[in-house]
Amino acid sequence: MIKQKKQGNLIIISGTSCAGKGTVINELLKRNQNLTLSISYTSRKMRAGETEGVEYKFVSLNEFERKIANDELLEYVNYSANYYGTGKKEIKELLDQGKDVILEIEVRGAQKVKEMFPETILIFIMAPSMEEVKRRIKARGKENNEQIIKRFQTAYNEINEIPKYNYVVVNDEIKKAVEKIEAILLSEKCRVERIEEIAVESQEEIIHEFLINKEFDNSPLYQDKLD
Ligand code: 5GP
Repeated sequence: MIKQKKQGNLIIISGTSCAGKGTVINELLKRNQNLTLSISYTSRKMRAGETEGVEYKFVSLNEFERKIANDELLEYVNYSANYYGTGKKEIKELLDQGKDVILEIEVRGAQKVKEMFPETILIFIMAPSMEEVKRRIKARGKENNEQIIKRFQTAYNEINEIPKYNYVVVNDEIKKAVEKIEAILLSEKCRVERIEEIAVESQEEIIHEFLINKEFDNSPLYQDKLD
C-alpha cells in the first residue's frame, strides 16, 4: 500500500575529539549491512597504521585542487592546513543503489551538505564529559600539552555548533551509543517524506467486495439482523 523512496539516506556523523566516533561507526557498519561509509579524499600525509582507501583516499595537493576545479567534490574543507573532501559521484551512486551512506566529516562540511540536501541526517557524538575527553587524550599519550590544549579548544568550538545538528548522542558506552543511532536511523526510515506513493482502495470498492463475497453473511452482527 505504501511505496517508499528507494534512495538511501545520507547520514553525517561528527563529534568532538576522543568522542569515540570511529569505534561507534565501525560497530554500526558491522551490525548493519545496508550502511556504508564514504571514504573521503585528503591531501594530508598518511599516518602510521593507515591504509590507502581505508581511512582516506590520499591524494597530492595538486590532485585535490584539480578535483575542486573540476567540481568533483560534494563539499571540502581546509582543516588544520590539510584538505578533506567528499567525492560527489561516489555518494550519488551509493544512494541510488539504496545504500544508507555515512559521512564522517567535521562541522563546516556538515553544514554545507545540509544546505544542499536538507534531508541529510546530522548526528553529533559526544564524550560523556570534558573530564573524560581529557582522560582519553592523556591515555592515548600521543600529544604534547600544546596539542592537547588545541584539541580542547576545537572541542569547545564544535560543541557550540551542536544546535545545527538533528541529533546528539552521548557515547558513555559503545553498545548504547550504537543502539541509539540505530533507533534514529530506523525512525528516519519511517518519515512521511520518504513515502513516494500511497495507494488506498476506495471504501466503495472494499464494501462491494465484501458484498460480492458475502463476507458479512457469517458475521454475528449480520446474523442478529436476520433473526
Ligand atoms: P583526521 O586528520 O584526524 O583524520 O581528520 C580531521 C577532521 O577532518 C575530522 O574531524 C574528520 O571528521 C574531518 N573530515 C574527514 N573527511 C572529511 C571530509 O571529506 N570533509 C570534511 N568536511 N571533513 C572531513
